[in-house]
Amino acid sequence: MDLKDLYRDVILDHNKQPRNFGRLEPCDTSADGNNPLCGDRLTLTLRLEGDRVTDIRFEGKGCAISTASASLMTEAVKGKDEATITRLRDLIHETLTAHGEATLPPAELGKLAALAGVRDYPARVKCASLCWHTLGAALEHHAQRHADNGPATVSTE
Ligand code: ZN
Repeated sequence: MDLKDLYRDVILDHNKQPRNFGRLEPCDTSADGNNPLCGDRLTLTLRLEGDRVTDIRFEGKGCAISTASASLMTEAVKGKDEATITRLRDLIHETLTAHGEATLPPAELGKLAALAGVRDYPARVKCASLCWHTLGAALEHHAQRHADNGPATVSTE
């Protein structure tokens, strides 16, 4: 099995059986994400202890890539602190935007490396990055502690 088949299988698996799908009630912070180019929408709810994500769920409707990406993200960030999450976000961003480069994604990404296949389809990069933008908005929202302003929202446009 070559690497592209492996990537495709991970994406298909996480789209068919999304991990951490649903909503945490109550939650410590949340954010809505919207990618109008494709019609992907998702809502993230998180529980935090200090700056560590102790639990995270997502719900919404989107294409296979946005759903698989959100599912993989929730698995990757659960139990991690904000510095680690920021590092993962940066690595994902670099991996998704490395158009036409044959380099392997960093080993640190673990299963998230499956998203590297998306860089061959630039129109789909926003589908894969939507959940990470939304996560950033949720964490920022929490940091600002403006909880009574309702959920944070983010759009990729
Ligand atoms: Zn999409």
